[in-house]
Amino acid sequence: MANIIDGKAVSASVKEKIAKETAALKEKYGINIGLAVVIVGDDPASRIYVNNKKKACEAVGFESYEYALSADTTQEELLALVDKLNNDDKVNGILVQLPLPKHLDEKAVINSISPEKDVDAFHPVNVGKIMIGEYSFLPCTPAGIMELIASTGVEIKGKECVVVGRSNIVGKPMSMLLLHESGTVTICHSKTNDLAEHCRKADILVVAVGVPKLVTGDMIKEGAVVIDVGMNRLENGKLCGDVDFDSAKEKASFITPVPGGVGPMTIAMLMKNTLTAAKIKHGIA
Ligand code: NDP
Repeated sequence: MANIIDGKAVSASVKEKIAKETAALKEKYGINIGLAVVIVGDDPASRIYVNNKKKACEAVGFESYEYALSADTTQEELLALVDKLNNDDKVNGILVQLPLPKHLDEKAVINSISPEKDVDAFHPVNVGKIMIGEYSFLPCTPAGIMELIASTGVEIKGKECVVVGRSNIVGKPMSMLLLHESGTVTICHSKTNDLAEHCRKADILVVAVGVPKLVTGDMIKEGAVVIDVGMNRLENGKLCGDVDFDSAKEKASFITPVPGGVGPMTIAMLMKNTLTAAKIKHGIA
């Protein structure tokens, strides 16, 4: 029977450390840390995410600046706002909530954010830095997963690590981080021939697909660490992961629940990146 990895507890402890460091920076150097959050349109899920990010800022002692733009905002208007925030000294991190309305070019918007303020780590400069292992910011979800793995005390070095999913925001950077820690990494995706066979080899299995209960207990090696990134909304309104928790917990040594596993870590890592951006700007990092 697996130990359940408590993402809420790990996230709370990360945020507590950030809050202490933020207070110390304010006291010692008079530094105020600010995160600008840009939301375009009125997508209800995006509104919830933005509100949660603002609450997290408050909890750790950051200023949060919200820019809520109407759904018919033009590309030029949005780029002009990003440019203004790039040059605003109060703003250490800029987050543009995705997805953007269809008429806007997401890639161009991300590319316009100054890499030093790109606390989501989606800018190509930051993505490239992850590849060569010289990063300041890590994308929030994979960074949070690394903290969760660390919380188990299981060493990554030399382990068989299998990542299911190859998206730019989760699967690919996740694989790089495990590789940097000297795991032997296999990346699976929708064209992988025998997913179960790959999964069964994993000492550390990270599943980021978006298909409810894709990975079942019979696909898991005895004693594996299983990280379930999936957040799937079922018809009954409940959240469900990509891993069949009930059968998987009988095989795994550690497993994340959904909700309460990876989810809470993502915002904590956003706060960590914003703190890092402020420290770099002031030459403290
Ligand atoms: P994407 O849709 O961008 O990527 C999904 C990946 O899964 C693709 O690489 C795809 O392969 C692969 N895939 C699809 N079907 C299969 C299959 N049957 N077998 C193996 N691989 C498959 O999703 P994201 O990476 O953005 O997100 C994945 C999940 O994680 C979602 O449920 C999302 O909601 C959740 N998520 C949770 C976060 C959190 O904070 N907890 C943050 C971000 C995401 P291919 O490339 O071949 O198409």
